[in-house]
Amino acid sequence: MTDRYSRQSLFPPIGTEGQKKLGASFVVIIGCGALGTVTAAGLVRSGIGKVRIIDRDYIEYHNLQRQILFNEEDIENNLPKAIAAEKHLRKVNSTIEIEGMVSDVNYSNIESLVEGADVILDGLDNLETRLLINDVSLKRKIPWIYGGAIASTGMSMNFLPGKTACYRCINPREVSEGQLLTCETAGVLSPAPWIIGSIQLAETLKILLGAKEISRDLVLIDVWNNDFKRLSVVKREDCPACGQGKFEYLEGKFSTRTSSLCGQNAVQVLNPKPFNLSMVDLANRLKPLGQVQYNEFMLRFQTDSHDMVIFPDGRAIIKNTADETYARGLYAKYVGA
Ligand SMILES: [Zn+2]
Repeated sequence: MTDRYSRQSLFPPIGTEGQKKLGASFVVIIGCGALGTVTAAGLVRSGIGKVRIIDRDYIEYHNLQRQILFNEEDIENNLPKAIAAEKHLRKVNSTIEIEGMVSDVNYSNIESLVEGADVILDGLDNLETRLLINDVSLKRKIPWIYGGAIASTGMSMNFLPGKTACYRCINPREVSEGQLLTCETAGVLSPAPWIIGSIQLAETLKILLGAKEISRDLVLIDVWNNDFKRLSVVKREDCPACGQGKFEYLEGKFSTRTSSLCGQNAVQVLNPKPFNLSMVDLANRLKPLGQVQYNEFMLRFQTDSHDMVIFPDGRAIIKNTADETYARGLYAKYVGA
């Protein structure tokens, strides 16, 4: 048991003292796709004392190409990503605390979700939630590590409150999702997120240990064109978030009840007040209307024309549409207003 971490505590910058520090640390991973599965696996194996993995989605076959923690059985069992990740990682390291949470991260819950965290890791696919992490990081003075990958490229940067520029400094205007490339339109090669996830993992260890080698640069990679760059990023004095202390995303200024899920041709509908929805009751109600599969974590309801997944907190993902009004209509019809 004492040998579990010997190969990393032999590395002088970590040592036995550093290993103890890691064992007393708490890291929150938001988004458990390709990046999140890499960072979660690495942190759990490194002996971080507590790892919380938050994800709102379930697993599909096209995830298996790059999301290393999941397998075909998880899909057959209708497991949400956070639950499958926790289940697999508990078998890897039973000596630490691992917590999978199926949840949409939004302005109303993010502060409690990251309470007490030493580092927040970004494993997301959308700009809006990253800007929300940016706000909470500045407000609570918790470092966060941005990561993103698309096609053969990837980017990462450490955002250290008070020490570096912030994410909003480099994303000054609101960008409409339609202008962004998505994994669905551009695809993604597994080595791109795996490298970026590994960089996030290394930077997490350095931040937790207070190492002087913590990166201050934006790192850019392209695994197809053999391009590896570092750019320095300057803080913008007129930045609303780090310059003026206005946390507009955290205040919910830009939040919506429905959102098109990036790259999925699906819409997520949030219930305005999360509640405890009985999967059994809902299954009994929907069975006469179509095909229903469910477990304690989620319910999938399919008819000839609709395909939706509903979670116990009342949240739903409506597939095969990008039309938010239509999705809200289906939600009202089948789940209730
Ligand atoms: Zn800023």
